[in-house]
Amino acid sequence: MIAKVIVDVAAYPIDRPFDYIVPVAMESIIEPGIRVKVPFGNRKVLGYVTGIKNETDIAIDKLKSIDELIDLDPVISSELLDLSRWLAVQTLSYEIDALQVMLPAAMRAKYEKYIDVVDQEKVVDEEFLNLLKGRKRVPLKEADTASLLKVIKNYTSEKIITVDTIVRQQTAIKKVRMIRIEEAPKLHVILESLHSNAKKQFELIQWMIQREGQTFTSKSLLEQSGISPATLKSVIERGAAFEEYVESYREPEAPGMKDVAIPVDLTEEQVVALGHISSSVKSGVAETFLLHGVTGSGKTEIYLRAIKEVLEKGQEAIVLVPEIALTPQMTSRFKARFGPLVAVMHSALSAGEKYDEWRKIQRGEVKVVVGARSAIFAPFKNVGIIILDEEHEATYKQEDTPRYHARDVAIKRAEYYGCPVILGSATPSLESYARASKGVYTLLTLMNRARNQALPAVEIVDMREELRLGNRSMFSLDLAEAIRKRIDSGEQIILFLNRRGFSAFVLCRDCGTVVECPNCDISLTYHRASERLKCHYCGHEEIVPLKCPECTSEHIRFFGTGTQKVEEEITKLFPTARVLRMDVDTTRQKGAHERLLRQFSEGKADILLGTQMIAKGLDFPNITLVGVLAADTTLHLSDFRAAEKTFQLMTQVSGRAGRHELPGEVFIQTYTPEHYAIQLAKEQHYEPFYKHEMAARRQFGYPPFYFVTLVQFSHEDLLKVADFAEKGTRFLKDNLSIDTQIIGPTAAAVSRVNNRYRYQCLLKYKKEPMLTETLQQLIKLYRTKWIKSGLIMTVEVEPMSI
Ligand code: ADP
Ligand code: ZN
Ligand code: ZN
Repeated sequence: MIAKVIVDVAAYPIDRPFDYIVPVAMESIIEPGIRVKVPFGNRKVLGYVTGIKNETDIAIDKLKSIDELIDLDPVISSELLDLSRWLAVQTLSYEIDALQVMLPAAMRAKYEKYIDVVDQEKVVDEEFLNLLKGRKRVPLKEADTASLLKVIKNYTSEKIITVDTIVRQQTAIKKVRMIRIEEAPKLHVILESLHSNAKKQFELIQWMIQREGQTFTSKSLLEQSGISPATLKSVIERGAAFEEYVESYREPEAPGMKDVAIPVDLTEEQVVALGHISSSVKSGVAETFLLHGVTGSGKTEIYLRAIKEVLEKGQEAIVLVPEIALTPQMTSRFKARFGPLVAVMHSALSAGEKYDEWRKIQRGEVKVVVGARSAIFAPFKNVGIIILDEEHEATYKQEDTPRYHARDVAIKRAEYYGCPVILGSATPSLESYARASKGVYTLLTLMNRARNQALPAVEIVDMREELRLGNRSMFSLDLAEAIRKRIDSGEQIILFLNRRGFSAFVLCRDCGTVVECPNCDISLTYHRASERLKCHYCGHEEIVPLKCPECTSEHIRFFGTGTQKVEEEITKLFPTARVLRMDVDTTRQKGAHERLLRQFSEGKADILLGTQMIAKGLDFPNITLVGVLAADTTLHLSDFRAAEKTFQLMTQVSGRAGRHELPGEVFIQTYTPEHYAIQLAKEQHYEPFYKHEMAARRQFGYPPFYFVTLVQFSHEDLLKVADFAEKGTRFLKDNLSIDTQIIGPTAAAVSRVNNRYRYQCLLKYKKEPMLTETLQQLIKLYRTKWIKSGLIMTVEVEPMSI
């Protein structure tokens, strides 16, 4: 028997499975999706079995054998194995990367698997007893015969033993020690045999007689009986009780916020939308829906109802939410409906917690997963619906290899299972809306808010006008007035600062020099708390200079606005206001995000001030005012999605106000009030924005009219990178059709990062049959030749930004 194995050797230039002989002992166990240890060169490496066959082209004396089994059951199902192959081609990545991305990090680490005995009494197999030699835990690799492996597999399914990865102490499976007390007659016998001075043991056994046959955790038994662990140990040795270790899952921190009330009746719009989804659930035919509904229109309520139907059909649900919207408020709505059937997967979990959640899914103990991007690979085996909330979010695209988009993976998995995909958004991506307009996706629309509240009134404030009137504050007169009113009436306020490209920088007023990073072609950002300048690209830090490095003038100071600076100004303007600041600095600690939101929801602050992370998902009844301090900052990014991002952000932020009984008001401050993305955000109508933006995209040849692929080159040597970029571009020109536009090579927008010079080449095409093959060849050229000269080249199909 020969196994095809994908080995975990990332640097190896060739991406293909290798053939290995399956030792006879493993023949009955081995199957695709199992991990193994194999010899590779002069090392032992991890590999994934992707196929089993009876013949090979390799000379038999050249073949090596599999060393060890890491799993007894597949950790990757056949569906996911196929998906990984597809993913590798789609994203031009290695199959090993596509496989690894499907498993929790704890399983990718260095590990060993151990057998743990759970129920000693039921272990009767001689060979197995011989393996144990009295031990309760043995490394799986010691089991090396076919019969032994079979026994282990059976014992595992009968829960007599467990076989699991022990990663590191903190990520290992958490086990709770349970004590099961014997029946009374046996206890009486032991009692009589006790030595007269064993008073404590006597006491404990008498206590146990009252509780014969019961099971306690050792902690509660010790607490209730008031006996020492040593005494307990002695009576267990005498046979008065059994110890067993029961697996317990680390429960991710329970949210302290309550669920919103479950609405009894759906609105008419909701009924129509849910009707379409239900028929897809029933029909078992894959269909992708774009659920376009204004903020607060009841999209989440539709997800919950659709999932209910799916569960009743005996199937499972995957719900993806952008990381920053994965708040306790969001997840508690799912937990309130589906209780312990919900697993939550987000990046704030420890490796061990993620592993636990993954195993709950793998074992079918939960039926719904709510998680960020990578939850799309949840190892369910009977998926009935896949939901992507806020489908337009850029975070659904992974930035490292494999550079996949969760939306594409969702649609692919749904095809396999014949189930619906719901893409939900108040501001769909242009790509998705265009597909819905063409009938590729089914468009479902919710025009009105679920409780019929009006959308908040949006006011655009021209900050240039404020300056002319002599107001140098970052708050316009109108916004300041509105804030004051809310503080007086005890209503709550969200102030949104879009920090991207807008953080404070240090500038010399005499010669105009901006202090830049010595390693990168970008200005340094001023951090008030530490009084230092930091580079957001490479991490370089330095103290704030007292003199201009160019002209030695002392008139050097910082400009721009950061959240800390806004907080100071609020305190000056509104001394009684209680402010919560939420940004990368205040949420670095685990659980900080939840804590701040909880404080705000409990009314412990008047103003929530923050960056992108407060734009989404918040649903608090008392928020009646939203202020956007500077809307322009995303507009000036040199990216074709700049207007789209600005419109989305403005709409999302505005949607936080007036979601309940109290009406909402929104102020958007800007230096470019005439820009269409800002003007149309005021009306909060998606359609006009879509039309306007589509015209611009058509004119400049960008998605969704064209597909784009970005090839990036970086090298420490400017001449070398220019040379390789030239070579790469030439290769593409020689191999792709003339209809494909090849733009470049050009220097990247940030032309140097961490002392590496960056070039890029952009491909635009409508249809390019040679694309995948050509890019694969280019990558091969890079992997086998160019990489040796210190070049780094990345290829990204359909990047989120360029
Ligand atoms: P979205 O996901 O579109 O922002 P939600 O599903 O969160 O909207 O609904 C917004 C608010 O309206 C929530 O508080 C929700 O409980 C409520 N809601 C949703 N559907 C209904 C309904 N049919 N009747 C009354 N309230 C509803
Ligand atoms: Zn100067
Ligand atoms: Zn830098």
